[in-house]
Amino acid sequence: MLFKVLPKNRLQALFDALSSRRIIGPVEKARRPDGEVLYGFDAICRFEDLRLDYTTTTHSPKKFFLPHREVLATFSLSGTTWEKKVDYNAYLPIAFFGMHACDINALNKLDKVMIDSSYPNPYYAAKRRSTFIIGIDCVPQPQCFCRSMGADTVLHGFDMFLTDIGGDYFVEVQSAEAYELLKGVGTRDPSSQDHALFMKKGDMKKARFSCQVDATDLTKILDMEFQADVWLEWGKKCLSCGTCANVCPTCYCYGVQEHVDLDLRGAVKEMHLYSCNLIDFAEVAGGHNFRPESHTRLKYRFYHKHRGFVEAFEAPLCVGCGRCGTACLAGITVPEVIASVRREAQGDA
Ligand code: SF4
Ligand code: SF4
Repeated sequence: MLFKVLPKNRLQALFDALSSRRIIGPVEKARRPDGEVLYGFDAICRFEDLRLDYTTTTHSPKKFFLPHREVLATFSLSGTTWEKKVDYNAYLPIAFFGMHACDINALNKLDKVMIDSSYPNPYYAAKRRSTFIIGIDCVPQPQCFCRSMGADTVLHGFDMFLTDIGGDYFVEVQSAEAYELLKGVGTRDPSSQDHALFMKKGDMKKARFSCQVDATDLTKILDMEFQADVWLEWGKKCLSCGTCANVCPTCYCYGVQEHVDLDLRGAVKEMHLYSCNLIDFAEVAGGHNFRPESHTRLKYRFYHKHRGFVEAFEAPLCVGCGRCGTACLAGITVPEVIASVRREAQGDA
């Protein structure tokens, strides 16, 4: 990895250098009545709209790679011949300007399933491969437990990563494209003082985490507590609304539907993101539902993220962004659920 220093007054030059791409970045989307700002990722034309000081976006960058709804193929009948059209919906290449480490880690996890697995998703891969990512450091929020999930820093999956060290950004340069881009923007090599400032910034960030999850031996604890009553308690609270999966940067379950025109001359096949907490998620042909109770569905989501995925990929399918807990109307948070299961295992429940 190469390191550079970018003066803050050259940040707009970096933004302008990406003009051949569709730039996506954090923007202010709305304000709550109490004045709290809600942030989201959106296409940005003006540098002034970029809010690199954002906290956590309500929705994650996932929506640009796994849209909530996406047409997979269209079919049309001409005479007696069917024509099938497939479009991966990856047009102008994207540049993400200002993605936090947890969200880059989330995309790296999605890549394992959507690109590197036995059944890759070409729609996801087409969008992901053409994406340029500029990461930005962040200030841990009260709901963030990314450090507990090993996702507060990131080693790959970005082109460059900016850390605010005062008057400059310390830049971790990961790709050749980023290196070439920076040549025209104006950077300098870091001094030992810049190195020290960068290290100090990292230490300050670590010290600011107030939310933690003890994930020690969590897969074993989950195995032991599969039948624990604590799941029934959380299941009683869960509204089975699916909001947690909707905002989660790593949830990727989806369904496929086909719509056929009434005259049978055309059809559309489309996917839509789904949630394992929705009541019909495990319903199969014939009407049998393998997980009809809310606690079994909620439990399944936790076991997939903190048990099954760990077994397959040696890391949880959770980056500790805290979005699900913030969005959940029932107040169900990952740290509280995991702590309650741990208490049950220790006989403290
Ligand atoms: S855990 Fe919360 S957000 Fe998720 S389905 Fe249940 S009520 Fe909805
Ligand atoms: S499960 Fe919750 S905390 Fe974990 S990555 Fe998904 S939204 Fe973030």
